[in-house]
Amino acid sequence: MALEILAGKRAAVLGGAGFLGSHLCERLLELRAEVVCVDNFLTGAARNVAALGSRKGFSMLEADVTEPFDVTGPLDYVLDFASPASPIDYAKLPIETLRVGSRGVENALELSVRKKARFFLASTSEVYGDPTEHPQREEYFGNVNPVGPRSCYDEAKRFAEAMTVAYRRARGAEVRIVRIFNTYGPRMRLNDGRVVPAFVSQLLRGEELTVFGDGQQTRSFCYVADEVEGILRLLVSDYEAPMNVGNPRELTILEFVEAVRRAARELGLPGANAKVVHRPFPENDPKQRRPDIAKARSILGWEPKVSLEDGLRDTLAWFRDHA
Ligand code: NAD
Ligand code: UDP
Repeated sequence: MALEILAGKRAAVLGGAGFLGSHLCERLLELRAEVVCVDNFLTGAARNVAALGSRKGFSMLEADVTEPFDVTGPLDYVLDFASPASPIDYAKLPIETLRVGSRGVENALELSVRKKARFFLASTSEVYGDPTEHPQREEYFGNVNPVGPRSCYDEAKRFAEAMTVAYRRARGAEVRIVRIFNTYGPRMRLNDGRVVPAFVSQLLRGEELTVFGDGQQTRSFCYVADEVEGILRLLVSDYEAPMNVGNPRELTILEFVEAVRRAARELGLPGANAKVVHRPFPENDPKQRRPDIAKARSILGWEPKVSLEDGLRDTLAWFRDHA
């Protein structure tokens, strides 16, 4: 799918100073789009986009999207990536998370209607909760505890999807919805508690690797460059329903420990033989997760290209040099 169509277009990236948002801003600029990054730095940081500050076509607007805000000038796209995303972040910020997934998404949809721009929602595999269907197809309705410790995030994203399709049905908004599965890479916050930055920081500090429960729960990890490519292909496609974008290679967390150790060994990092220490299994932590990406394959012609081995090596090397 030709992303050249993005050249000369103008996009607002809400949450653009976060991990995924900053990679998206960078790629959009490479494709010669103009980018307005909107962020209040709640879980992101200005330094994530500092290098983009001098690039042609980039501007920064510090704003909380849960409050009324506007972007001056025309827009072709509004990409909504604003939300705490790690279990530690949203446990600390449950009300902010629900607000950004409700008021924030409504404000973003209003902006896109005012500007006649296409709206793009960053949703998540968490809408499937602790899934009873495996792998997860887009048609699966999910298994979410509405009052559990993860509900502020899961239900906010389910509401955000519902609000997005309501704007399509009732207001004629043009919308795209991606369900992102665990994505990793440079610029994650080392202390955000997600398993990749947790293992990377433990390894670099020579600490034990904390495995929650017996480590038999599974996840499927997608490298950020692959994820961004899938996101942009969906953005420019005609597909209006939610679509999974993630890497279908599934590992138990214990297998993931091995993969991280191998990457560390290849780089000659001191913590490569770090031991594992088990910690209690978090309540409602999904026991299995793997995307069915048949739709992304057939409709977008997309599938991940970066192997876990290459992605982990690049990520570890980046943190070694920047942490
Ligand atoms: P992140 O925390 O690095 O980025 C989120 C960004 O949103 C931060 O820069 C934060 O400051 C900003 N933000 C939060 N509340 C805001 C508000 N009220 N106003 C303005 N900005 C606000 O997280 P991420 O991993 O980059 O996730 C980005 C998006 O992708 C989120 O919507 C998340 O739900 C979704 N997602 C990510 C993953 C993943 O594996 N990284 C998986 C599924 C979904
Ligand atoms: N996990 C772990 N040790 C950690 C952090 C996470 O074993 O230090 C596990 C966690 O229980 C989950 C998986 O790794 O089963 C992925 O967790 P993460 O927070 O990265 O993402 P999510 O649970 O949102 O998929």
